[in-house]
Amino acid sequence: MLTPSRPVIKIGISACLLGSPVRFNGGHKESRLCSETLARHFEFVPICPEVAIGLGTPREPIRLVGEPTNPRAVGTVHPELDVSDALTAYGERIAAELDDLSGYILMQKSPSCGMERVKVYQANGHPVDGGGSGLFARALMQAWPDLPVEEDGRLNDPVLRENFLSRVFAHAEWQRLRDTGLTRKALVDFHSRYKYQLMATDPLQYKALGRMVATIGKMPLDEFAPTYFRQLMQALKKTASRGNHSNVLQHLSGYLKRDIGSEDKQELQHLITQYREGVVPLVVPLTLLKHHFRRHPDRYVANQAYLQPHPENLSLRNAI
Ligand code: SF4
Repeated sequence: MLTPSRPVIKIGISACLLGSPVRFNGGHKESRLCSETLARHFEFVPICPEVAIGLGTPREPIRLVGEPTNPRAVGTVHPELDVSDALTAYGERIAAELDDLSGYILMQKSPSCGMERVKVYQANGHPVDGGGSGLFARALMQAWPDLPVEEDGRLNDPVLRENFLSRVFAHAEWQRLRDTGLTRKALVDFHSRYKYQLMATDPLQYKALGRMVATIGKMPLDEFAPTYFRQLMQALKKTASRGNHSNVLQHLSGYLKRDIGSEDKQELQHLITQYREGVVPLVVPLTLLKHHFRRHPDRYVANQAYLQPHPENLSLRNAI
């Protein structure tokens, strides 16, 4: 059941990850993280591209062969079965039709759904180093480069999980803004809200995007907005280091300098240092910061996505 208070956010997902028996062998690859934890917060749109293009279940497995940057998807038993064009066309169709998705979770290693490092076999029967992307996934990512995309396996890493879901919420917020009619002021406010999030993930782009937004009046908004959003999503994709998070925590604590006493300041500094050194997770200094900001509210800080980029009960910052 979805958590009620926030707007519904849709995420596309490889159907086998939700437990649908759509794999070539009639099985599934249910991910409890997706089917239980994340399903409480998002509306999943399950898609199995191989079933959608008409391959039955069970079916002959397919694999990638040829040039890793442009492989073909063919049958493992009958290589004359070539579904490359069908998978690519279906990826392009989904990207065009489902423009209300705010993210996509893919099944790793699949010649259709795998995001990266999928085995690509050579004429000698051996896979090439590095591999490639599944053909459905590749078409989707090429058609929609701003969409946050991640593989189920990588979501087991707490840092990658937190990063992916932060981007999903940012993407959804941008879509809502776009759907209600984007204005220059709304874009500037949106950017202002993501400043500290950007400072944590990519300090250089934090400065570059700040300079870019300062020139917003010099270009038509419908040209400026997609360029800005593309750069923002690229910057948010970088995972924030403990050093960068600590830097943001220091900046935020600066807003409290006239409001809290020296003992409280020392306690906060101590926890930020402990976080930087890996002794405590991010949630510890953040909880104390939020406690102080509840007692001494600051409108600019309260509006920062960094303080709560995703629902608290997802507990994403307890493990990073
Ligand atoms: Fe279908 Fe993709 Fe799962 Fe394969 S990995 S069963 S194509 S959803």
